[in-house]
Amino acid sequence: MKSAGIIGSGISGLATAIRLASAGFQVRVLEKNGTPGGKISELHSSGFRFDTGPSLFTMPEFVEELFLLAGKDPSNYLTYSKLSTVCRYFYENGSRINAFQDLHKFAEEIEHKTLDTRERLIAYLQKASDIYAISADVFIHKPFHKWSNLCNPQYLSALFKFPEIDAFRTMHARNSQWFKDPRLVQIFDRYATYVGSDPFKAPATLNMIAHLEHIRGAYLPDKGMYRIITALFELAREMGVMFDFHTEVKQLLLKDHQVTGLITTKGRYTFDVVVSDIDVHSLKEKLYGRTPPRLRSRSKFASSALVFYWGIHASFPFLDMHNILFSADYQQEFRHIFDLHSVYEDPTVYIFISSKYVPGDAPEGNENWFAMINVPPYWGQDAGTIRRARKNIIHKINRMLNINIEKHIATEHVLTPSVIDERTASAGGALYGINANGKFAAFNRHPNHLRKFKNLFFTGGSVHPGGGIPLCLSSAKIISHEILKKYSA
Ligand SMILES: Cc1cc2nc3c(=O)[nH]c(=O)nc-3n(C[C@H](O)[C@H](O)[C@H](O)COP(=O)(O)OP(=O)(O)OC[C@H]3O[C@@H](n4cnc5c(N)ncnc54)[C@H](O)[C@@H]3O)c2cc1C
Repeated sequence: MKSAGIIGSGISGLATAIRLASAGFQVRVLEKNGTPGGKISELHSSGFRFDTGPSLFTMPEFVEELFLLAGKDPSNYLTYSKLSTVCRYFYENGSRINAFQDLHKFAEEIEHKTLDTRERLIAYLQKASDIYAISADVFIHKPFHKWSNLCNPQYLSALFKFPEIDAFRTMHARNSQWFKDPRLVQIFDRYATYVGSDPFKAPATLNMIAHLEHIRGAYLPDKGMYRIITALFELAREMGVMFDFHTEVKQLLLKDHQVTGLITTKGRYTFDVVVSDIDVHSLKEKLYGRTPPRLRSRSKFASSALVFYWGIHASFPFLDMHNILFSADYQQEFRHIFDLHSVYEDPTVYIFISSKYVPGDAPEGNENWFAMINVPPYWGQDAGTIRRARKNIIHKINRMLNINIEKHIATEHVLTPSVIDERTASAGGALYGINANGKFAAFNRHPNHLRKFKNLFFTGGSVHPGGGIPLCLSSAKIISHEILKKYSA
């Protein structure tokens, strides 16, 4: 029986462990923290529960596939519901737009509240679906950096369709040409942030993200986002995967292009195959003793997040589960994140309140607020920056919602880029590895395998095809196929 060692128990590490175990490998996961999940994590405080990382669940079938592969019924482990409202958007001029899940209801909302028509919205989403249909197989579901793939007709045909997938203009250029109402442009520009990028720089190909949320659907697990991890962890254990927590991999031993051993805080391990689910920049430090990315390369990283988890002693019926309070100047906000590497004073504030759907997440009459802004990855933000950002967020919430939120805050915890970096070893706390700010972004991602390391494979949000739950699960599938092709268990 071949053995596989997985470094890191992020969602991609767990999915890889399940896939390899179901193919007969003996699998062991080495995790530096005391719990599985990496960026997907939860926090309990004074009767409140918070999902501290992802809040939006799309493509649940990618998770279910893992249970089916193991011959299990997914609904015995994970149940989830489709949201009726994908997001509620608030603007500084006092207007509000509801992005309803039901497409016709959403189109009605657009027709009534904006300068655009229902037909224009539906045509836009159709275009997003077309881009997804042309590019998903090439850019999401298959290894991208293999010559054999690049020469295959399907790849070549997708590459020749570059104009059709809108790769030659930016998301913002496309959206502002398509919609008359700047509020709709802002709604669809925002999807760049789902991959930690700037809509004024990222290719309009990424407009396909709207397809995932509006056509395929937005969901929430019935017990909150962390349930995805506990369900996968349970499945992995049932399949015989072994987990060593509080075990940090410090060094990879290499001989003749093979990883011959892993030096960890708990001793030395050897495996036939090693899969890294850790940020590839952090892995390179362990492989080559490289120092963390230097300042001059910081422009290539995805944005990070500053999140306040507030237990709120009040409830606000005019808020939904996902709420966005938009910046009055989106372009300035992105310029600050990606060019000036600073925190903008009028940031877009995202408020996620899972207790709207999961009543146990807050005591009755209370709400659990996750208030987040996008910020540059960590390279020197100090306590003063965090304090100023908190003040600006609170002012914005009070101004736009006409409330006094501070007096209702009963508990507070903060997630900063440096904490994300420290907890998950993600360079600078970048949420999605490198950003997609350029036409050829997909080509710049780190491959899932390098020929110079025969038995080492890379998965997770910092490598192909990218970050976010669905892409991390796709990454696990890609490398598992590659490993199974190369080794028979
Ligand atoms: C605040 C926030 C909001 C987000 N919102 C969303 C969202 O709404 N939707 C979405 O799809 N995605 C979202 N994401 C992104 C998503 O969480 C990530 O893309 C995904 O979870 C990354 O998974 P991964 O498999 O790459 O591993 P990671 O989650 O990065 O985990 C890597 C694991 O490796 C461990 N590790 C690191 N170094 C070592 C070592 N040397 N030895 C042993 N173990 C090690 C770490 O402790 C960690 O557990 C968000 C992330 C954050 C932080």
